[in-house]
Amino acid sequence: MANKRDYYEVLGVGRDASADEIKKAYRKAAIQFHPDKNPGDKNAEEKFKEAAEAYDVLSNPDKKARYDQFGHAGMGGAASGGAGGFGDFGGEYGGFTMEDIFSRFGDIFGGGRFGGFSSGTSGSGYSGKSVNRGSDLRVKVKLTLAEIVKGTTKKLKIKKDVTCDQCGGTGAKDANSYTTCSTCGGSGHVTQVVNTFFGRTQTTTTCPTCDGSGKVITNPCPKCHGNGTVKGEEIVEINIPAGVGEGMQLSVAGKGNAAKHGGINGDLLVVIEEEPHPELKREGNDLIYNLQLNIADAVLGSSVEIPTVDGKARIKIEPGTVAGRVLRLRGKGIPDVNGYGTGDLLVVVDIHIPAHVSPAEKEALEKLRTSENFKPNASSKGRNIFERMRNYFMS
Ligand SMILES: [Zn+2]
Ligand SMILES: [Zn+2]
Repeated sequence: MANKRDYYEVLGVGRDASADEIKKAYRKAAIQFHPDKNPGDKNAEEKFKEAAEAYDVLSNPDKKARYDQFGHAGMGGAASGGAGGFGDFGGEYGGFTMEDIFSRFGDIFGGGRFGGFSSGTSGSGYSGKSVNRGSDLRVKVKLTLAEIVKGTTKKLKIKKDVTCDQCGGTGAKDANSYTTCSTCGGSGHVTQVVNTFFGRTQTTTTCPTCDGSGKVITNPCPKCHGNGTVKGEEIVEINIPAGVGEGMQLSVAGKGNAAKHGGINGDLLVVIEEEPHPELKREGNDLIYNLQLNIADAVLGSSVEIPTVDGKARIKIEPGTVAGRVLRLRGKGIPDVNGYGTGDLLVVVDIHIPAHVSPAEKEALEKLRTSENFKPNASSKGRNIFERMRNYFMS
């Protein structure tokens, strides 16, 4: 979803347009860009879809209110594009097919499933016979940072509609459990004459009674009661690439619900949830660790242990390390999901100041209080924490 045009602009109406004006404007755009008037014109098809999407939002009071307040961001399509294998990241919104448009807004064009327009102009993918499709299923998968860094495979037990094994999905008890469909006389399609904006048009559509098969079931399968599907489950193995993040969505084609009476399975949509790491914070592809440094280690230098996604690592602390210094461990972050390198592990230094001290510690500190090197002076200029952080972020 690249930059989207403003919906009001798409329909050419003002923000204060009434419902009626919006409907009229949509009707005008739909006629102008209708595929039957612009055969093979991809640009017109895009405009046709764009107008339908705008109308879908502006004709619905809830969606319109959300759009007026938040713009496109309020419509749910939040995240950016994705790597191979990923579908729409987070966004269920938009992307109407021609079939959707005709079935949803057909009444605007003047009735009928295909809106009364000739469905003979095939090639646009919305005319032909309808195919049953199972619905999509959505599951969440929780991943640790370690799994995200390496990529992983998950086996999930999915409860779903599966094809009935008794009838093989037909929904009929046996081969003799059918009779010829009386609506279409067995042809699987029906022809209607409808009045449209373009005059009288003859349309041929899939028979609504038999869904195009030409026959109806007289004796349904006892196991699925004619549905062709029953409740069941399937173990699905999902390969999750390295670098995924919270809210990303992976779609596994054909692993959703089975379709009634044979047809195509829906998809399984896998939504990624990231389990927070107890010590490391993710920032894009980088990881941040806040290191609490002993004041003596900071002054004298040391070597300390820090957590990484795959165990501990030891890093060197230079003498005179100040609070706010950021130590960068290159490549110890998260690999980019699109393959653009790997992030870093950033160790942000903080100096631990004890809340309580023993008499002996106090005595030692009292000596240091007046000691020459412990006096803040001109020589420590540039070691100021704010200056350091600014230098770090500007570079
Ligand atoms: Zn059955
Ligand atoms: Zn029929």
